[in-house]
Amino acid sequence: MNYVVAPSVSPVIPVSGSEQMFPVHRIYCVGKNYAAHVREMGSDPQRDPPCFFMKPADAATTSARIPYPPGTKNYHYETELVLAIGKEGRNISAENTADYIYGYAIGFDMTRRDLQTASGGLGHPWDTGKGFDHSAPVSSIYPASVAGNMENGRITLSVNGELKQDADLSQLIWKSNEIIAQLSKLYLLKPGDLIFTGTPAGVGAVLPGDKLLATIEKLGELSIEITEPE
Ligand code: MN
Repeated sequence: MNYVVAPSVSPVIPVSGSEQMFPVHRIYCVGKNYAAHVREMGSDPQRDPPCFFMKPADAATTSARIPYPPGTKNYHYETELVLAIGKEGRNISAENTADYIYGYAIGFDMTRRDLQTASGGLGHPWDTGKGFDHSAPVSSIYPASVAGNMENGRITLSVNGELKQDADLSQLIWKSNEIIAQLSKLYLLKPGDLIFTGTPAGVGAVLPGDKLLATIEKLGELSIEITEPE
């Protein structure tokens, strides 16, 4: 093939305990999926149901060094359980989603909160606040066959050793199976899709030099350092 520009290559995520890699197709995200976080963002979990948005596939990165992004003065972490889809499907029943989950990961839905807040207030899309370079750091993928049941388990985030987020996956408003069922009514889910399931309360701003350490029980940890802008 004779390309006019070099074709881009999808990010690949290592599979824990294996030499195999998970190629990223799309990144879907769920917003407003823990009640305490919905309230800290000034919304009402009864009135505002979870919402979907996307990040570009090449926002996914396993780099431990994440450059501070341009265009923001309020750059936030959001620690999330990530679903890694292993099978194509649409209109998937919520009772039948287990076959579609290849595995799980820990992810950061990094957010330019000032841009997200401004666009939301204007009724504009969230894209500049949510979908930007390096905005989806992820851990290795842990196969579902090894991780087991992820309907509960502690999820934490520390910044420079100080605990900032501490919740349990059982507090998700929409569970993993419901997220897959809902998303698959809107999109053809494909192997390689990642789904960020939403963050608990305790989000906050970080600056160059800050070290973030996320943990999810039954998975492992994800450690990144924010570095100077590129
Ligand atoms: Mn999020």
